[in-house]
Amino acid sequence: MRQLDVAVVGTGTVGSATALFLARQGHRVTLYEKVAEPQTLGAGIMLQPTGMAVLRALGLEQDVVPRGDRIDRLWVQTAAGHKVMELEYAQLHSSLFGVGLHRGVLFDVLFKAARKEHGVTVCTGIDVEDLHTARDGRQSVVERGTRKRHGLHDLVVVANGARSSLRDDTAFVKSVEPYPWGALWAIVPDHDHRFTGRLFQVVRGTRRLIGLLPTGVGPQGGQRQVSFFFSLRADQLEAFHAGNFEGWKAGVLADVPESAPVLDQLTSHENLLFSSYHDVVMWPWNTERVVYLGDAAHAMSPQLGQGCNLALLDAWYLAQSLRHSESVPDALFHYSRTRRWHLSWYQFITRWLTPFFQSDHLWLQPLRDVGMTWAAKVPWVRKQMVSAMCGVSRGPFMDLLELPGES
Ligand SMILES: Cc1cc2nc3c(=O)[nH]c(=O)nc-3n(C[C@H](O)[C@H](O)[C@H](O)COP(=O)(O)OP(=O)(O)OC[C@H]3O[C@@H](n4cnc5c(N)ncnc54)[C@H](O)[C@@H]3O)c2cc1C
Repeated sequence: MRQLDVAVVGTGTVGSATALFLARQGHRVTLYEKVAEPQTLGAGIMLQPTGMAVLRALGLEQDVVPRGDRIDRLWVQTAAGHKVMELEYAQLHSSLFGVGLHRGVLFDVLFKAARKEHGVTVCTGIDVEDLHTARDGRQSVVERGTRKRHGLHDLVVVANGARSSLRDDTAFVKSVEPYPWGALWAIVPDHDHRFTGRLFQVVRGTRRLIGLLPTGVGPQGGQRQVSFFFSLRADQLEAFHAGNFEGWKAGVLADVPESAPVLDQLTSHENLLFSSYHDVVMWPWNTERVVYLGDAAHAMSPQLGQGCNLALLDAWYLAQSLRHSESVPDALFHYSRTRRWHLSWYQFITRWLTPFFQSDHLWLQPLRDVGMTWAAKVPWVRKQMVSAMCGVSRGPFMDLLELPGES
């Protein structure tokens, strides 16, 4: 493929990773970012073997992984202490593991690398509202408010997250729905390094899920940290803020005594931030010269801990499609076809699983507590569960996804 002039809108996980891959293929990339001074903010996230493989392909794995905490298993139990699920990465392959990470660390490493990369120009403080198509098909990005047009690009990569307005005038079949549920979260120092090796979750019915994730060091380094999550319906946020904080802490402590060192560090409602989620479904993820990646294309509930990992894979697959195609439209249609089954499968299982852990369907509780426990004893089912956790599942009767760099 000849050298392209590429616009990437958004410098989140997928935007920076895409800019790096494409610049290294010799394309000229302009990264447009709304925030004037992008910050290293964020909750704890899970980096899966898929995400790590993409970082390895970028030469950045060693800048990220040692700053996180190795996770060998996912553990889910009820508030009464009954084990619902224990999945170990090593059950798929002894070399596999996950990493609990401060989202800011991933942002920091990718953004700094993109800034330094020859061939990438970073333009911050530009809120892209729209795209404009010139007579020859090339694209400009249009700034909100001023309607100022920037560039004349051969390709636009839309990577500006779940709330993107750049999907609005496309003719795709699509749906963009906010989830009724979200999560309160906090990241605090793990003084005695007690939280290690597992993502620990406690459920009570289907309305309460509390999680503790070792998160490594923050973007500025320093002490190791742990992330605390508490699921909450978005329409109950006000009631939470109006409620008695010490009473709420006592309730959490009763269900999860292990959370005591975290709760000791929380003194008011303001210590907890609320995140809401979107469910974005669209197909295909491209037009002739525009492609949608990451949360802009397929945001989903974080139940399976895959969002950043799917976004990193998108960047890798787009680079592969461009490398092996003769024209931009061919590359983009190839990209949409290649990603279709993996992404559709994760959207399907996320939508299917989430109500067992976050919903008002209380009748799902016995199915979850008994059904999942027994199902996980069947080796074939267990393998499906572990491969889904690792990010490499493509459905029960399909081969596992090959990790980037494996073939
Ligand atoms: C509570 C919570 C927990 C999560 N846990 C996990 C987990 O464990 N594992 C995991 O892999 N994922 C997790 N996720 C999901 C993960 O954070 C996202 O899937 C991932 O960040 C998506 O990356 P992205 O690059 O597509 O979008 P984003 O990270 O949202 O980046 C979008 C970028 O675009 C910029 N932007 C937005 N609008 C504009 C505009 N108009 N013009 C220019 N720039 C713009 C934004 O400022 C931002 O820099 C979680 C999400 C939440 C909310």
